[in-house]
Amino acid sequence: MARNYDRRAVLAGLVGGALCPVCAGLAGRAFAAETPAAGDGAAEAGRAAVHWDYTGAGAPDEWGTLEADFRVCSLGMEQSPINLSGPMKAQLAGDVPTFADMPLTILHNGHTIQVNCALGSKSTIDGQVYELLQFHFHHPSEHVIDGRPAAMELHFVHKNAAGNLAVLGVMMEVGNAENAALAPIWAAMPATATPERNTGTMIKPAELLPAKREFWRYQGSLTTPPCSEGVLWTVFRDPIQMSQGQLARFAQLFPVNARPPQGRGRRFLLENM
Ligand SMILES: [Zn+2]
Repeated sequence: MARNYDRRAVLAGLVGGALCPVCAGLAGRAFAAETPAAGDGAAEAGRAAVHWDYTGAGAPDEWGTLEADFRVCSLGMEQSPINLSGPMKAQLAGDVPTFADMPLTILHNGHTIQVNCALGSKSTIDGQVYELLQFHFHHPSEHVIDGRPAAMELHFVHKNAAGNLAVLGVMMEVGNAENAALAPIWAAMPATATPERNTGTMIKPAELLPAKREFWRYQGSLTTPPCSEGVLWTVFRDPIQMSQGQLARFAQLFPVNARPPQGRGRRFLLENM
């Protein structure tokens, strides 16, 4: 009983406490939903950012104990990613991303390569309009399909006017050809942690979406500390393709930057296929 009560209290505190300072701290623009290392609550409070990682010291099974704001990583009941398996069929409104071409603004935040998006790209998700804030990459994929990871996963992080987050996940697999839309991003990838840089190159993020838009849908969380919940997830079934060389280039920088799948618990996994 006591433990349950504590868990609820922690979660109630974190839903408001962990997400919003991050949004406010970066004025909503360069908001690093899964990248709290810069501009997060700890930094604003003058504390050193807590070290977390994917392997070794600060690995995912320790995230919940690294600092108070990270407790939901271990205590949360709606964590991401998950194994996409055994979904319920549902009639859901299809997601409609309308991503504009934009100048490439890129950073290496120590955990991934992130592209911060210019104003004007949006997606309609579950009938609501969300603005595209940033996108970034994981190797291997974080979500797994019937237990199988993809080579990589791309996350398009969005926020609506009410401040709620929605992420569109795109699986990435190795095909025969180089991915032309990925090429300018890969060419600009910093090899070490580096602040945001505007390269002047134009990119076409719409071309990083799969042609077919069948998807899975569930309620989850950020996949990096502070693992805040209340994130609406969509993962497209069809992957986009890249070359073996493009995969190797990212894998060299990030041998592993994927959180393992979390328990689904009582959550529904819906499929629109
Ligand atoms: Zn991510």
